[in-house]
Amino acid sequence: MRTDPQRRRFLRTGLGLAALGAAGMGIQAAARTQLMNPCRAALPLELAKHEIVRAAWAGLDAAQVVDVHAHLAGSGDGGSGITISPRMLSPLYPMEYLQRLFYLNAGCAHDDPGRVDASFVDRLHNLAEGMAPGFRLLLFAFDRAYDEAGTPLPDRTAFHVPNIYAREVARRDPQHFEWACSVHPYRADCVEALEAAKRDGARAIKWLPPAMGIDPASPKCDRFYEAAARLRLPLISHGGEEKAVHGHGSPAFGNVMRLRRALDHGVPVIVAHCATLGEDTDLDRGAQGRRVPSFALFSRLMDDPRYTDRLFGDISAITLRNRDTALLRAVIERTEWHSRLLYGSDYPLPGILPLMSPASLARDRMLDAAAAPVLEHIREHNPLLFDFVLKRHLVSNGKRFAPCVFESRRLLDRLSGQDDRIMRLTAAPASPTTAPQP
Ligand SMILES: [Zn+2]
Repeated sequence: MRTDPQRRRFLRTGLGLAALGAAGMGIQAAARTQLMNPCRAALPLELAKHEIVRAAWAGLDAAQVVDVHAHLAGSGDGGSGITISPRMLSPLYPMEYLQRLFYLNAGCAHDDPGRVDASFVDRLHNLAEGMAPGFRLLLFAFDRAYDEAGTPLPDRTAFHVPNIYAREVARRDPQHFEWACSVHPYRADCVEALEAAKRDGARAIKWLPPAMGIDPASPKCDRFYEAAARLRLPLISHGGEEKAVHGHGSPAFGNVMRLRRALDHGVPVIVAHCATLGEDTDLDRGAQGRRVPSFALFSRLMDDPRYTDRLFGDISAITLRNRDTALLRAVIERTEWHSRLLYGSDYPLPGILPLMSPASLARDRMLDAAAAPVLEHIREHNPLLFDFVLKRHLVSNGKRFAPCVFESRRLLDRLSGQDDRIMRLTAAPASPTTAPQP
């Protein structure tokens, strides 16, 4: 296995942009010329019809393919209610500023005042159109940070995407979008908020515990967990280290072992990125247990028979260059896990050019060398398609992700109780003779 700690460290340091330093407005120009996604529109025919694109869709029912990990971003200029912390808007805080710029650029939102929110969604719509008909994205709301008393902390909230906005974006384009709510468990109204979200069609709940200030192991979450289990709302929670959003809580809140409390309440949990980044304390050895890779703790929970029908993982972001290739290989080679994995892209991250490298995956022999330049070209036009085709073609020691990983709708439907509804409908009496008498 090829390791390149220096490269990884560079990328880990705030999306690899630390080297650009505190050069104020110069940053913007430098970033634009060297690293920005060119944001081209439609896919040229030779790419759309390319063998590797055709092969990626072959054998899949596109109507079952759901990207279960997609972020909505914006600036709030279109009335979305999205807020970004002042630090993220100020060139005086170059890291945050660059992160915002990159997030928005990766979604190719225009910087024109009044058009950022709408441009982000327009772009997402166009990209989804470039996928096979039936493909959908699960769009994430993103709740504020709260303190332990349940008071919102706007100043400590890096980023807020209201549930209503995610719901409306999904409603306006049901051919392409579904939505996941985000509800902080310390909110006094958390149960009502979950009930409203379920009524309004939310398919899951999204948490980023370190940024939102959520300790998933806290008894304060119990009311929330009881409601989530009752409402059949799976929890998509971040596991391991988080680089994308700075926030309010302790990094220790990202420890997947803290999610046992949710699992033990009967909540289906989908660990984002299969916890492939960072280290956490092995809490089975006490609060002072040694630090181990977060992925080792995720693996321990996955291999615990009590959680077979309850714990899952999404494969978003696992191909980012800040990950250890050995972990990507492990997720692919653990084929017994595949029926519990769901496809996700972590959009807009696949549109950030330096974060993923098909060429280095080809050097690691996880991708056909001839596919790398084609994938680079696809990414310039459609980062969603790029991420999908890339993951469909990944290979490690002769193993690949099973088709069920990509046909994630079946599992998502089962976890959110949608398959019960379908079964009840199809099991409905076909003729009056079998119908129960009133
Ligand atoms: Zn994400």
